[in-house]
Amino acid sequence: MPRESLVARQQRAQRISRALKRLHPAKCALTHENPFQLLVATILSAQCTDVRVNQVTPTLFAKYESAKDFADASQADLEEIIRSTGFFRSKARHIIAASRMILEKHGGDVPRTIEELTALDGIGRKTANVVLGTAFGLASGVVVDTHVGRLARRMQLTRNTDPAKVESDLMELLPRSQWIEFSHRMIWHGRAICLARRPRCESCPLVPDCPGSRDHLPVRAVPPRIDVGHPKAVVP
Ligand code: SF4
Repeated sequence: MPRESLVARQQRAQRISRALKRLHPAKCALTHENPFQLLVATILSAQCTDVRVNQVTPTLFAKYESAKDFADASQADLEEIIRSTGFFRSKARHIIAASRMILEKHGGDVPRTIEELTALDGIGRKTANVVLGTAFGLASGVVVDTHVGRLARRMQLTRNTDPAKVESDLMELLPRSQWIEFSHRMIWHGRAICLARRPRCESCPLVPDCPGSRDHLPVRAVPPRIDVGHPKAVVP
């Protein structure tokens, strides 16, 4: 793709954001009833599908309800319940440790700042952004999971692979008011259309603004808009 100015890329990101809005809900796929459950479900979702997590959490939340319940949980029992989500030992350890910190430092309530959340055991920026955005409606950043990272690179909204850098690039391209819903919709799009191994470009409305479609469509099928760019500008 020709070099593209920041302004041109911001405009393209807006068109992508609008197209995604027509396609997907701004809804978290992890089943939860409160911020704490979302925090636990998000920890479980690492290297695991949301479908699998949603199969495990009803049993888990029926047995353990509050941060105190999880803080007092037996590691072995927790491991057994969440085993099918993978990496179950470290996930159980992180859930118990984070619950203890929430209990001791925050009175049992999930904190509402990115600094406090990322200070909890096993909680990184992705999980913190999910909880703040979905549970509290606070746009602290853009959630960058495996789907968002892959799609952002295919769409050439970033060239980075480090999630923190991808997030920074996306935050520069989109207004804060769109950060939360953009993440949700990118994740849905990654699951439904822009699949990891074989993206369904032939049925994707984003083709005109997605340079990645060139790798998956016959040349004559790619509309011209993706060739528009500022020849002297710099891509990060
Ligand atoms: S056009 Fe293809 S590569 Fe681009 S978002 Fe759609 S499915 Fe993914």
